[in-house]
Amino acid sequence: MATDAYFQWTSCPDYSYPGMFEGLREIAENRVAPCAKCGASRKFHLDFNFATDGSGPRRCTVINAFLPSARPKWRQGKEFVEFFPFLVFLDQPKSYDRGVWLPYWHVKGPKGRTRPVFGQWAPFMDLALYNDLVAQARAAGCLE
Ligand SMILES: [Zn+2]
Repeated sequence: MATDAYFQWTSCPDYSYPGMFEGLREIAENRVAPCAKCGASRKFHLDFNFATDGSGPRRCTVINAFLPSARPKWRQGKEFVEFFPFLVFLDQPKSYDRGVWLPYWHVKGPKGRTRPVFGQWAPFMDLALYNDLVAQARAAGCLE
């Protein structure tokens, strides 16, 4: 799944490309700054190209994003690795339910030179499907 992501300023024509990982991390950590030029607030848009529905790019807006407060970290040879699993809620075009997306990155590399590496095959589903799964997991006692 090819995914393009960008911040769009809501009331000025400037665009900023922080990268998908950094943009989602800014949202998850509540540090999305307004436009440096005019002070407009920013929204993070993601365009999803789903190979199976053939309807062209589906333009979504991030409602919120979450990261675990404590993330797993480990050493792999001479590299340091940190796992960043996101839970992202999205507004989709009108004909769709709210979307839920679970992308993840491994930030890895030698000390001082780490870089985010995108994990492939992140699931994307409508909110009703996600809620169904969570309700089943709760009923089975898997969620404390
Ligand atoms: Zn501006």
